[in-house]
Amino acid sequence: MAQVLLSAGHSNTDPGVVRNGLREADIAREMRDLVRVRLAEYKILTDVDENLRDTNLPLTEAIKLARGKKIAIEFHVNSGGGTGVETLYGDTWAGRKQIDLAISLSKEIARASGLKARIWHPKQPGAKPDTASARKILGFCRAGGLIIELFFLDNKDDLLKYSAAKSAIAQAIARQIQLALGG
Ligand SMILES: [Zn+2]
Repeated sequence: MAQVLLSAGHSNTDPGVVRNGLREADIAREMRDLVRVRLAEYKILTDVDENLRDTNLPLTEAIKLARGKKIAIEFHVNSGGGTGVETLYGDTWAGRKQIDLAISLSKEIARASGLKARIWHPKQPGAKPDTASARKILGFCRAGGLIIELFFLDNKDDLLKYSAAKSAIAQAIARQIQLALGG
């Protein structure tokens, strides 16, 4: 049974942030698939939030799939005038290991791309509790998942850095998952 769930934020009917002709749902799906391929090279099986290659299930389905996984990650992009990468975890729900993984995911994505890891608290750069997010409670995080907000789609510099480093970012994420699984 797969130990890892990779989920792409949003869905075919909810594109998420749309800027400069790019849709959050498409960016999320692309990164999910890149990471999945890398993990397969490490012989790590993943479930994804879909049955068909070009579909993307809504959140309720992703939460169902996240339960019982060692690691569940959902990909999103940010907007609203900021910059950098951050990984969200379920406040009071996440254990130390999960918060450490959130920190190292953001840190290694930053290292691979030149994006900066956003600081919510200096003791855990790159990691942020869901209670500090705009929505306050994130169902996916409460189901044990981590949400990576890869970059700000409304920030041109972020977009350039992300686009140039996509495959290095996928590699960095896969490596951190492998390490977290004890590999
Ligand atoms: Zn989103």
